Amino acid sequence: MPADVIAIDGPSASGKSTVARRVAEALGRVYVDSGAVYRGITWRVMELGVAAGDVAGAVAALGRMKVAGSVVERAVKFTYDGFDPGGAIRAAPVAERVSEIAAVPEIRAKVTGLLREAASFGPLVMEGRDIGSIVFPDARHKFYLDADPRERARRRAAEGQGEDGEVKRVLGAISRRDARDSGRATAPLRVAPGAIVIDTTGLSLEQVVERVMAAVREA
Ligand code: C5P
Repeated sequence: MPADVIAIDGPSASGKSTVARRVAEALGRVYVDSGAVYRGITWRVMELGVAAGDVAGAVAALGRMKVAGSVVERAVKFTYDGFDPGGAIRAAPVAERVSEIAAVPEIRAKVTGLLREAASFGPLVMEGRDIGSIVFPDARHKFYLDADPRERARRRAAEGQGEDGEVKRVLGAISRRDARDSGRATAPLRVAPGAIVIDTTGLSLEQVVERVMAAVREA
């Protein structure tokens, strides 16, 4: 039986978080933000004082780290050694370091396991970079949301969160992260086989949600 998962992948600021939340809400599914797990682990690794570039240190720290998930308000929330990092995972230091951490195969293997375990919480909507390709290749529904990088930078800047500043600087940060996420050897950002690609440039949030819902209904 295919995993009862709606996988929504795509690059940063493609709109996937908001769309995934809306779709989960509309269908009464549990929402999982897989990027938040990579960010949370990055946050904890930094808290523990592991220096940038120290891959062995990061792997060892994760080996000792207790990562636990539970459902809070229909979304899976993870804690790291019992700590909830809250908004710190969206701030610039974590945003700049996360794709280095997410490129490490041992770390990806651990996170993939944690994400698969989340299926025990019920039918899911999970967003990320490799959900339809690696985490749940047999997901019932797969989507890949994309948008023009300039449009993505405008959206992220307008959110006024973490990666703040003007559009040009945000565009630089997004492009660096895209390049690292697409260029890494393990689980690079790719359109999963069977995924429906939606270019969200010029579409409203409602239009994207409607397209996803229509495809789910049709299937
Ligand atoms: O989605 P978000 O921007 O929060 O993800 C942060 C980072 O986590 C990404 O840039 C990527 O490096 C990593 N990530 C990943 N695989 C996922 C989700 C996120 O490698 N499934």
